[in-house]
Amino acid sequence: MAGRKAYKIATLGSHSALQILKGARDEGFSTIVVVTPDRYSLYKRFKFIGKIIEIKSLSDFPKVENQLIWENAIIVPHGSFVAYLGIDENKKMKVPYFGNREVLDWESDRIKQREWLQKARVPVPKRYTKASEIDAPVIVKSYGASGGHGYFFAKNKKEFTSRFKNFKARPYIIQEYVIGVPLYIHYFYSPLTNQLEILSIDKRYETNVDSLGRIPSQNQQGLGIEPSFVVVGNSPLTLRESLLAEAFEMGERVVKTSQELMPGGIWGPFCFETIITPEQKFSIIEISCRIVAGTNLFVTGSPYSALYYNKEVSTGRRIAMEIKAAIKTGQLNKILD
Ligand code: AMP
Ligand code: AMP
Repeated sequence: MAGRKAYKIATLGSHSALQILKGARDEGFSTIVVVTPDRYSLYKRFKFIGKIIEIKSLSDFPKVENQLIWENAIIVPHGSFVAYLGIDENKKMKVPYFGNREVLDWESDRIKQREWLQKARVPVPKRYTKASEIDAPVIVKSYGASGGHGYFFAKNKKEFTSRFKNFKARPYIIQEYVIGVPLYIHYFYSPLTNQLEILSIDKRYETNVDSLGRIPSQNQQGLGIEPSFVVVGNSPLTLRESLLAEAFEMGERVVKTSQELMPGGIWGPFCFETIITPEQKFSIIEISCRIVAGTNLFVTGSPYSALYYNKEVSTGRRIAMEIKAAIKTGQLNKILD
């Protein structure tokens, strides 16, 4: 459009900002990162970042909104948007936002999220509403993207009751602790083509639960070690090919159900946090409705994104491709909120 500024892609300096902005630059967009002073020197290092806007603290984000609108920026949200700005701030944001904000309420309330997954016929771990029902090991989880902070594990009802006394987080959910391999599937749904892609898969490295096996159990006795689930990193993984069909179908059902439950449904990147049991059954412990940090492994593409594209496509780049396609075909209204 004559006289109209080109669209730019902007995000907060945290989580997966480098991947998002590298992908945007690779697709030809100018890029903007909004940072707090402590992060300035990190983002300054990278040439694919066109502009750095500094704010004193993340809560000052609304103060730069008019500048972002003036720049003709499109915001790509990531984990820090919910973790640090909160849902209300996300909803209030006036800058065009990639993704459907209607999804936030369904995602953040663990009970509603469960209702969504169950309606999509996706297997979820058993949920307990009171201590007296507990008949298996459980994990007790607060709400929100806390990266596994503040959860506790109890192997039975008795242990639950004694640990729960010191558990302060509200609200929370009590879930069956599923024993198996945790695996995170990174999807991307395009409302332009109505296609669902699996772009990559990772597994998390969590402290201390992923290192407990290094000390034999007889040596752990008496140490009083409690498992904790704080994420410190991610490694790549491919799924047994025979399980892939089900991974696609579950993703498609969740997209379809979202369209019935919320205006517009989910689009763009989302992730299933799954546990696969020895019977090769998936259990979906959570859905994250935006780009997840595990995709940072795949800045140069993944064994799955390579099946669709003859170039290095990360989730960040895939988002930029979608925005570019929408601009070209005059369909930005389908992907921005
Ligand atoms: P940070 O910028 O590291 O403080 O992370 C921002 C948010 O994303 C926090 O809620 C973290 O718990 C979450 N997060 C960061 N890195 C990861 C990761 N590799 N896997 C899962 N969650 C993460
Ligand atoms: P979440 O905050 O739901 O992503 O969970 C963080 C970590 O806690 C996961 O990566 C798992 O290691 C563990 N976890 C959460 N829920 C369950 C569950 N129902 N069964 C077993 N492990 C779980």
